[in-house]
Amino acid sequence: MKTVINEQNRRSFSSQVESMLHDKLAKCYQCGKCSAGCPVNFEMDYTPNQIIKMTELGMEDAVLNSKTIWLCVSCNTCSTRCPKGFEVTGIMDVLREIAEKKGITSKAEKEIQMFHEVFLDNVKSNGRIFELELVGKYKLKTRHLFRDMFLAPKMLEKGKLKMQGEKISGLNQIAKIFKDFE
Ligand code: SF4
Ligand code: SF4
Repeated sequence: MKTVINEQNRRSFSSQVESMLHDKLAKCYQCGKCSAGCPVNFEMDYTPNQIIKMTELGMEDAVLNSKTIWLCVSCNTCSTRCPKGFEVTGIMDVLREIAEKKGITSKAEKEIQMFHEVFLDNVKSNGRIFELELVGKYKLKTRHLFRDMFLAPKMLEKGKLKMQGEKISGLNQIAKIFKDFE
């Protein structure tokens, strides 16, 4: 199917991304070094360099509905390898943020998106991660109550999971950060 991109929409989407990213999309000259080093590229529907070009071309729907932006694990390999110093990891963060604000849910990677939501809720209420609460809420949300359940006793035994969480003292500052992003 032929995709017709309105020039105004193209500019507004790519400018929005550039302003949130504090970087220029045109810096990328499509050498592909970022994608070659990405540890999860085999699962992605578009490689990181394709996502950059598509963003520059204003292909908003395709980019925001892609699996790629949710599969990225923010390992930073791409940004480190980029000869132009382009913020590849950053663009994935920005695109997830825009998708989230627009209420676009990735059908293919729903559970990853749910994990992000639970993770952020956890940080919002504790100022840090309380793993047991995080896992519990994630399992309730995804309804995978018994998946990985045999790992829990081992993790408890090794002190990797604490029964009680802690809240940081500067919770009001955390609340302010979240408010700034609303
Ligand atoms: S930060 Fe994301 S896109 Fe970049 S290499 Fe890691 S997983 Fe791939
Ligand atoms: S490594 Fe840098 S210049 Fe090369 S494709 Fe990736 S972002 Fe573009």
